[in-house]
Amino acid sequence: MTCLIGVYGASGCGRGIMPLLRTQYPQAELVFIDDGQAPACVNGHDIIHWASFLALKTTEKSVSIAIAAPMIRQRLAEKCAEANIPLIEARATSVVQMDAVVIKDGACLSPFVTLTSNIRIGRCFHANLYSYVEHDCTIGDFVTLAPGAKVNGNITIGDHAYIGAGAVLRQGITIGADAVIGMGAVVTRDVPPGVTVVGNPAKPLTKD
Ligand code: UDP
Repeated sequence: MTCLIGVYGASGCGRGIMPLLRTQYPQAELVFIDDGQAPACVNGHDIIHWASFLALKTTEKSVSIAIAAPMIRQRLAEKCAEANIPLIEARATSVVQMDAVVIKDGACLSPFVTLTSNIRIGRCFHANLYSYVEHDCTIGDFVTLAPGAKVNGNITIGDHAYIGAGAVLRQGITIGADAVIGMGAVVTRDVPPGVTVVGNPAKPLTKD
């Protein structure tokens, strides 16, 4: 039984993840951890700083990193590992998961997410409201799917990629590590690592 769960990030993402964990772990004590917000109480849960979370005397602690930005999640995951605090999965009861789906630790799976079959997903995956991952996809570590992102079959997504709200990825393509897919983009071709694409059909974002 997990006794104390810290939801890292008390902003929009965190406030969407906290109720999921409260349902999953009704006996646990749940707090927000936030380094940028003053200690306070939000939606019935205290906001405390990381140092205060570490100082709390509890035998079992775990953390859910509820921040959409992939690189911040990685940094905070390293901080948790250094403190020997495991990452816990937050999963809405409405999530549909089919056969042979392997997900590493620390995922946040929001309401109405669907993961079909034969999918491999790395650490600290975020799948926001109504996003889906179709069959035979391979997804790296610290990947974020914003609400309604559509990841069709046989797609590979590299570490830290961010797939924007409502974006559609064509079956079979590869999204490189650290790539950003703009909101509503229709992505029909591979996206190289670190590149941001927008539009329909999606094209690299150029600065004027
Ligand atoms: N934050 C933090 N530690 C960090 C980076 C961010 O506590 O190292 C907090 C930050 O203070 C903010 C939240 O995480 O309250 C991120 O909020 P934001 O609205 O940027 O992201 P979202 O909730 O949409 O993912």
